[in-house]
Order: sequence, then C-alpha cells, then structure tokens
Amino acid sequence: MKKHNFSAGPCILPQEVLKKAADAVQNFSGLELSLIEISHRSKDFVEVMENARSLVKELLNLPDGYSVLFLQGGASMQFLMTSYNLMKVDGKAAYLDTGTWSSKALKEAKIFGEVAVIASSKDKGYGYIPKDYSIPNNIDYLHLTSNNTIFGTQLKEFPKTHSLLVCDMSSDIFSRQLDFSQFDLIYAGAQKNMGPAGATLVIVKDEILGKTGRKIPSMLDYQVHLSKDSMFNTPPVFAVYTSMLTLQWLKEKGGISVIEKENEVKAALLYAEIDANPHFQGFAAKEDRSSMNVTFTLTDESKSKEFDKLWNEAGINGLKGHRSVGGYRASMYNALPIESVQVLVDVMKKLN
Ligand SMILES: *Cc1c(COP(=O)(O)O)cnc(C)c1O
Repeated sequence: MKKHNFSAGPCILPQEVLKKAADAVQNFSGLELSLIEISHRSKDFVEVMENARSLVKELLNLPDGYSVLFLQGGASMQFLMTSYNLMKVDGKAAYLDTGTWSSKALKEAKIFGEVAVIASSKDKGYGYIPKDYSIPNNIDYLHLTSNNTIFGTQLKEFPKTHSLLVCDMSSDIFSRQLDFSQFDLIYAGAQKNMGPAGATLVIVKDEILGKTGRKIPSMLDYQVHLSKDSMFNTPPVFAVYTSMLTLQWLKEKGGISVIEKENEVKAALLYAEIDANPHFQGFAAKEDRSSMNVTFTLTDESKSKEFDKLWNEAGINGLKGHRSVGGYRASMYNALPIESVQVLVDVMKKLN
C-alpha cells in the first residue's frame, strides 16, 4: 500500500496522474516513442505546452492580457527574475517579510535596487502574518508570499496597492479561489501543487514588461520567453507534461472551487485535533493558519519518540518539521486524500 504522503515538496500528486505520466514515458500518445525522447518542437509536444498554458488561464479565471510561461530554475530563479524585469534602474521595491522564502526573495532584489521591508514577522519566528504596515508610494512593485510553506502561515487578504503586485504562490496556487487578476505577476515552483520539480509557472500581465530601462540577458527576460511561446530553449518536457495532467485532473474534479472545499475540510479536521488534544500545540497564529502546511509541536518533547513511532507505523511519510522550526509539519496539498488526514488524526488520538 502507498504511504500517506505529507511531504512538503516535492510532494504528493494524484495517483492517476503518476500512472499517465509513467505510461507517456514508455509510449507517448500512441507514437511508439517516449515523451522524453521526441522533439519539443514536434506537433505533439507543442500541443502539450499550449494545453498546459491554457489550462492555467482557465482554472485561475484570468482575463485577457495575461500570459503563462513554464520556465526552469525553480521559484528561486524567480526571486531574481522578478526584480530584473520589474525594478527600474535606480528603482525601489517593497517586500513583506513573512518567512524564509520572502527573505530569500528580497535578498536577490537588493542586487537590483532599493528594497523596503514594509513589515516582518521575524521577531516571533515567522509565526504570524504582519497586518499593520503602510505601503510606500514610490515603488516599482510590492512582493508577497501567499503561503509560508515552512512556518504554516497564509495570507487571507491581499493589500490594495497602486504599484504592481507580485506574489510567490509556490505552495498554495490552485488550492483556493482568489481574484487572481489583482496580481500583476504570479510565480510558483511546480513541485508543491502542480507537478514534478523542474518547471516553474510564471503568470504575467503583458503590459507591465519592458519598462525598466535595463538590458536583460535573454534567458532571464520574460519578454524573450513570451515571444517564443515559452519555448525559447528546450522546456522541461516531463515536468510540463505532468503538470498539464494535474491541471486536467483538477479541471475534471470541478476546478478550484471544488478542491478549495476539500482543502478546507482537511485543514479543519487536523486543526481541530491540534486544538483539542493536550499533547499538541499549533505553531502559527490562529487567524493566519495555512490550509496547505500545518505546523505543530508536542507540548512535552519527551513524547517525541513515542509519537514518531506511532506515525511511522501508520504508514505516514514526511511529517518532520522543517529544520528551522522543528516539531511537525503536515503538508496537505490538493492530491492528499482526506483519508490520510484521518489516519494522522487517529494516530494523534492514540498518543497518551
Ligand atoms: C519551495 C518554495 C520556494 C523554492 O522553490 P524552488 O523551486 O526550490 O526554488 C519558494 N517559495 C516558496 C513559497 C516555496 O514553498
């Protein structure tokens, strides 16, 4: 039997997606060739890329004027590509520092210009989302991280701003309904809710590009990738194909509104146990709790051996907290069935 996979990333994908991806590696689309041994310029693969790009737009309900790219380099490459493409020469950007990933993003931005950290929750170990801040007027963009994978906090509301709004949605894209048109640029590594590592999704409003006055190397220039329909160089074909399968799976399920409800039920089930069970304590501030990554600790550390034995025996994988936080982290991405959450809750009840 497969394990109950709470891994934070790379993470669980729908089982039927894995099966279809495996089949395509053997024989893609009846061609008697593998998906990974045909030209990315072939009609069959170009169709995959176009399908993946249009499924993103459809699922996120994006209006005209946005383009979708599948790039390489992970979300970490986007930390610098966003600044490179959006920060003017002698420009300034604002960042909300809500965790490790935000702080890595703003570190890259400092290479390109002035960075205003408008608020940070570092003072309390990134256990909450700062809400009391003002956004400067003279900035090129404001950068946010919608879900803090490591700390288990999530932005429930997004600030209104006159500047461009950029968001790292690596760990909660396609998990909840939002007005995605409030953002000018969204990026997300595939390996948390969409597919295997190797592809990075970038969604960008066309009109914001080409305004910095900088010379940008081709591979780091969104406009170059857009002009080549996300095929400037060889795309990560397997990661794009598998992402496309996950997006199809989501569409067939009924889209984000359906998965959002499932995610809410899963999160409510686990948080209820954390709050009711005296052995456990939630890490994140209640109003900022993530529905994707649930962080918690034992109230009595000496019970850790016993608890670790219980969940390992129950076939649970990937529950150890990030090394910077400790404790436990249950990542409950779209493909994680509620049965797995129930198994975890039952194990927590067993601890005495
Ligand atoms: C995992 C993660 C990243 C880093 O992604 P890579 O693809 O490994 O570069 C960045 N931001 C967030 C929110 C993440 O969860």
